[in-house]
Amino acid sequence: MTTTPFVRPAYQNLELQPLAGQWRAGSAGRTLDVFDPFTQTRLLQITQANREDLDAAYRKARVTQLDWATKGPAERGQVLLNAVKIFDERREEIIDWIIRESGSTRIKAQIEWGAARAITLESASLPSRVHGRILASNIPGKESRVYRTPLGVIGVISPWNFPLHLTARSLAPALALGNAVVVKPASDTPVTGGLLLARIFEEAGLPSGVLSVVVGSGAEIGDAFVEHPVPAFISFTGSTQVGRNIGRIASGGEHLKHVALELGGNSPFVVLADADVEQAVSAAVVGKFLHQGQICMAINRIIVEQPLLETFTRRFVERVKALPYGDPNKAETVIGPVINSKQLAGLQEKIATAQAEGATLLVGGEAHGNVLPPHVFGNVTADMDIAHEEIFGPLVGIQSARDAEHALELANSSEYGLSSAVFTSSLERGVQFARRIHAGMTHVNDIPVNDEPNAPFGGEKNSGLGRFNGDWAIDEFTTDHWITLQHAPRAYPF
Ligand code: NAD
Repeated sequence: MTTTPFVRPAYQNLELQPLAGQWRAGSAGRTLDVFDPFTQTRLLQITQANREDLDAAYRKARVTQLDWATKGPAERGQVLLNAVKIFDERREEIIDWIIRESGSTRIKAQIEWGAARAITLESASLPSRVHGRILASNIPGKESRVYRTPLGVIGVISPWNFPLHLTARSLAPALALGNAVVVKPASDTPVTGGLLLARIFEEAGLPSGVLSVVVGSGAEIGDAFVEHPVPAFISFTGSTQVGRNIGRIASGGEHLKHVALELGGNSPFVVLADADVEQAVSAAVVGKFLHQGQICMAINRIIVEQPLLETFTRRFVERVKALPYGDPNKAETVIGPVINSKQLAGLQEKIATAQAEGATLLVGGEAHGNVLPPHVFGNVTADMDIAHEEIFGPLVGIQSARDAEHALELANSSEYGLSSAVFTSSLERGVQFARRIHAGMTHVNDIPVNDEPNAPFGGEKNSGLGRFNGDWAIDEFTTDHWITLQHAPRAYPF
């Protein structure tokens, strides 16, 4: 007997927002058009939320969080497990939205679906991994306990490049650990960055009002989202420029808040003279061009030790010239559109600047719509814009290093310190080199683009503050409460 697999009907009314326990239009009166970056057709129109909607969402979250936090670990964990099941049953629907709304290639959309599912599954185990402590006390008759408690209400702000995953990696652990959450997705990706996840968690059994999604303009509700008295913690992923401002408001305003800032990157990809060139080239192609280079961990600078420079450059250029670009929905496409025409214009300016500064164009081409073909530059030096600025697009420059020490110096000559990579045939040498790179993450003989649900993800220097995933998420999304019990009357000095 054959059974027909259960297919859930696709989510409807995605132009509505879950605001304070009710799916409805925002009250701002202004609308937001959401476009497919490849076809440039309108996908949907959302009536935006205003400050009153935001206030209602935060207030409802504060009330519902108290009850949500009292649920046992199994009950909270079960909601996360239900969400994982829905991720599986709706895999194609979710991937289709990622492709259409963020211009992701099919390959990247599948990776993103997998990453969001993985952090949701990891989060299902978090409720039973929270431990308090009993401490020794110097005071006679005193018992000293540390309770680990949810923070309360958490505000999550996410970017457009990996919208589903970058919202899910804050949302899933925060909920699992007994917090309520209000999400502000990026304006380019309100569906994959929030509305879709809200539908999934509602279907998974999350009580109404524990999660709200506010779709509104940064200018109208951005500061209010951070300054509002209810959220105890702001989890921000986005650019260093906006992150700095959010850090200032969150910790310098009337209400002091915990803040996690996951910001820009400028990942160096170092190829030492003893590296396997073919492996390094294969890694560089993926580490640079996955999602058109619009990843915070994407390779931003290729640094090759002199003896391998010519061979590496020749092979890399050959491989890059063969990369298929165009329609992201085609299985073979590697480079799809960048997110919007403003981003494209910024990249075209970077290309012109690189040429004006003396870099040699080795691979190039004209944009078609928002699809920019891959660009590779040789003869790049550390002072050029393309080396010291975050690129966030399908362009890259190759720098020459005199020796390994020079390669390290070049790798570290950046204000950013998110991810990084080094290729060498000696793994231990790679580890010693990696330990001297000032970054939150370094991968030996692999691409800098790595994210696993149980490993600490985060940056140093201007790449941010805080760590995601696994035990680190428990630290971020809970706080310590020290409680003592004086069993016997205490002898006071006066
Ligand atoms: P962005 O900083 O422009 O926007 C990020 C989010 O902040 C969006 O939701 C946006 O609406 C919101 N925002 C903008 N102004 C705001 C304000 N004044 N108050 C409150 N919210 C505001 O970044 P982007 O262009 O969406 O994303 C690209 C950047 O994100 C890159 O720099 C990239 O490196 C970084 N990024 C970092 C990580 C990481 O984990 N470190 C991951 C992905 C992207």
